Amino acid sequence: MLYVVIAFFFGLAGGVVGRLKGSSFFLWFLISAIVPVIGLIAAVLYRYEIDEPERECPNCGKVCKVYEALCTRCGCELEYPEPPVGQPVHSV
Ligand SMILES: [Zn+2]
Repeated sequence: MLYVVIAFFFGLAGGVVGRLKGSSFFLWFLISAIVPVIGLIAAVLYRYEIDEPERECPNCGKVCKVYEALCTRCGCELEYPEPPVGQPVHSV
């Protein structure tokens, strides 16, 4: 019985986290209730796989996150990508 309560609360937490990140509440509720700890961690980490923009390392071709200054595979220095076109750039 205790396990059901724990699973329910993990499911609720995972569902809320998943919902906040633009995914399905019910899907993450199920995942977090079936595998409580792992499901909740997956829901928390979920965003990073989807929302973070990525670019390829020009040196070795590894896909890196845009905020990484160095390639995690070859150590090549990565330039920060150009700001999106259409936004006025305010110079000092
Ligand atoms: Zn690289």
